[in-house]
Amino acid sequence: MERVYNFSAGPCALPEPVLLKAQKELLNYNNTGMSVMEMSHRSKDYMAIIESTEQLFRELMQVPDNYKVLFLQGGASSQFAMVPLNLMSRNKKADYVNTGVWSDKAIKEASRYGSVKVVASSKDQTFNYIPKLDPASFTPDADYFHITTNNTIYGTRFNELPDTGSVTLVGDMSSDILSKYYDVRKFGLIYAGAQKNMGAAGVCVVVVREDLLGNALEFTPSMMNYKNHADNGSMFNTPPTYGIYICKLVYEWLKEQGGVDAIAAINIEKARVLYEFIDNSSLFSGTAATEDRSIMNVPFITKDHALDDQFLKDAAASGFVNLKGHRTTGGMRASIYNATSLETVQKLVDFMKQFEQAHV
Ligand code: PMP
Repeated sequence: MERVYNFSAGPCALPEPVLLKAQKELLNYNNTGMSVMEMSHRSKDYMAIIESTEQLFRELMQVPDNYKVLFLQGGASSQFAMVPLNLMSRNKKADYVNTGVWSDKAIKEASRYGSVKVVASSKDQTFNYIPKLDPASFTPDADYFHITTNNTIYGTRFNELPDTGSVTLVGDMSSDILSKYYDVRKFGLIYAGAQKNMGAAGVCVVVVREDLLGNALEFTPSMMNYKNHADNGSMFNTPPTYGIYICKLVYEWLKEQGGVDAIAAINIEKARVLYEFIDNSSLFSGTAATEDRSIMNVPFITKDHALDDQFLKDAAASGFVNLKGHRTTGGMRASIYNATSLETVQKLVDFMKQFEQAHV
């Protein structure tokens, strides 16, 4: 069977060379006579894998030396609790911007540990825009300020990072990490569930400035304490070994593409091609505010639900799969992460054109 054009929001398409390399090395990694899945995490061979994974990530993201890079489990959702458990210990206050379901979950979780202020929200319009921020409303002595840099479900993203002054900025970067340049120094902590621009699911990457470690709330479980993971090089317990290895292959692939700036240029062009078609279409329309549009997730609709369903059905029959919008929003969403080529996006646009001609 041929591979499909997979527009899933995550877990999503991985670069084909990554899958082929994993296949090639599946039974016998680097003449060890065993699969990476069968290796002790403390073996010399595995240590070399995790070290080079971290090195590649640092290089791609330009992570400064005073930041730790941790490969954890529990997905981005565990970070909704780990962030407050580790950082909300000084004044027990944090500011959050509510830009959707994931921010909302992060807010609910943090509210269990301290006082959370939602400084801005776009809930009034189903999160289809990024709310304007008024620094006068920020809590000056907050322990941190949390944003979701890219909102996977609604296709919005922060074009500009908030200026939080001396307050630590925390970013959930699950759906746009490595898609474009981010200055890590602007953040105290970044987290991202691996299943979009990194893979495979099961790994969560945390980048944390060293001075933020060691102040966890007293009752923080050991597994939720960043310091334990940092002090043990992500080997406090058995790490998600195979997922980390796939991350390494993805990072190698990204480096071969020219790194983050090179992929960003392609991502911008992919998004431009798709949005341009949608904006000029007599059938399709985009649902996110133009100025806040994501270059990773592109939500759109037709004139009515029945036609949306028809589109999804016809698209799938032609090999364009996982275009259904999130269950809370409906409509369609094309997720066009790093592994999706410009050619694939152009093919989708061609298909949408045909559908439009048949249905206007
Ligand atoms: N944050 C964002 C922005 C996401 O897109 C997702 C998952 N799609 C999550 C958090 C939750 O991630 P996980 O399923 O790894 O817990």
